[in-house]
Amino acid sequence: MVISSAQEMGQQAAEQAANFGRKAGSKLARKAAGRMAKSIKKLVVTLIKKFLIAAVKFVVAIVGAEGIVFFLALLIFSAILMAIPFADWFLKGGERTQAEETADRQYEQQFRDLSAESVAAIDNEEASETWKATLKNIVIPSWAIPVSLVRYQISHSDEKITLPDPKEIFANLEPTFTYMTVTDDIEYTKTITSCYRVVQVRDSRGNVVKDSNGNPITTTVDDPPVKSVTSSKMPSRKILSKVEIPFGTTEIPSAKRYYPGGSYEPNDEWQLMGTSSVGRCTTTTYKRWEKTMVDDRGIPETGFDAEKFKEFLVSKGVKEQNLDEFFEYLKAADPDFPVELYAGEYQEGDSLYTNADYTYTGEIIDGWVWPIAIDYRGINSSFGPRWGKFHYGVDLGGRRWPNAPILAAKAGLVIWAGARGTYGNLVVIAHEDGLQTRYAHMSAITVKEGEQVKAGQQIGKQGSTGHVTGPHLHFEVAIPNKKNPMAPMSQAEKAFDPMIFLGPLQDK
Ligand SMILES: [Zn+2]
Repeated sequence: MVISSAQEMGQQAAEQAANFGRKAGSKLARKAAGRMAKSIKKLVVTLIKKFLIAAVKFVVAIVGAEGIVFFLALLIFSAILMAIPFADWFLKGGERTQAEETADRQYEQQFRDLSAESVAAIDNEEASETWKATLKNIVIPSWAIPVSLVRYQISHSDEKITLPDPKEIFANLEPTFTYMTVTDDIEYTKTITSCYRVVQVRDSRGNVVKDSNGNPITTTVDDPPVKSVTSSKMPSRKILSKVEIPFGTTEIPSAKRYYPGGSYEPNDEWQLMGTSSVGRCTTTTYKRWEKTMVDDRGIPETGFDAEKFKEFLVSKGVKEQNLDEFFEYLKAADPDFPVELYAGEYQEGDSLYTNADYTYTGEIIDGWVWPIAIDYRGINSSFGPRWGKFHYGVDLGGRRWPNAPILAAKAGLVIWAGARGTYGNLVVIAHEDGLQTRYAHMSAITVKEGEQVKAGQQIGKQGSTGHVTGPHLHFEVAIPNKKNPMAPMSQAEKAFDPMIFLGPLQDK
């Protein structure tokens, strides 16, 4: 645009010069005027070109080449944004018609319906309604996930978006149910048969008593009831044993229950099934049942792997650097969505997966147990030089196991239970053989100073207090400083690699 007007200006100047020549009248003068017009045109174009180059150089000097590139990119980006339909669909301030808003809600409703549908199988279990509702809440693929994926795709695509099929997005979110076959259900049947006899009434001398018509008077006498109990196997049945979601597994415990009543302890309750009479005998039938059922006495625990969830999002096209943005969509879509859990940033003291009354049932090798109650027996960071310092312990556990029980690695006396500098919440146990163990960064401590603890006894919960980058257990073993048992490890008489003691307990 600018260039072409420069040419126009040159053209104008040339025409003016030509007019001047025509006024002069002579052919020669016109020729001279023509040459003059050409050179004036050339001069004007050159001047304008020079001016433009100078102007561009000036702008580059002020805002820099990046500035110009940025400005152009901004222009292109706005053009693209305007080209995407629904770009402002989910974004605040988007103007939607009534009909479009209804369509939006219907689209979102499909996700809610699919969520509910995907956990409907839980309703088939014979368990308390509260338990079923709780389990559903644990394993339901939140509709907020697919809804947020759509929002993300819309705001990040530079192409016209076709809204994805909800079923397709759901394909990797639905829980899968595993069942076990129960074959040892027993049905007990008890029958009580009572018969009576008709006897003639006799007087004290043994003579039959007769009525006024001379007929013997009769009465009935009950025979002792005959009781029988039989048992039979019931048809095999399937009960829920495991629910897997892509980010964790929920094991469903089972237990024997006694019906009627459904108590977990054997009893002698029977259910009356009915009575039938044949002749002088009446039979009453009762039943009771012994069945293996899902154990609905507690809320099952679910291991949750936030990293796996993030991998899933990345596989769906969410860029790793945009995960925080995605979690914002989740919060906006569903205020009840447990974002912290899915993002791996649970709150300290979060009771969701706390195992408050933990009992150790694992192995004790030479008096030692693995000091964190998780099924993973590996180390995240070993004993030795690290980042220019010396790491006096091993790091165990991690964010996959929020609030996992921390256990006394060996029997001993608690000599410290509380916050201590970079250790955060710390427990220190003195052992009879002169060794000392330290457990750092806990979210909660469940023992007191002066308490004698057994190997495997819970002393606290894994956390991220003190100087940490994430939740884990920092575990140390040492012969402490004789004068000051609480002195830093660098002053201990000897700091050991804890794996010397935990090695035999480690995963092979
Ligand atoms: Zn550490």
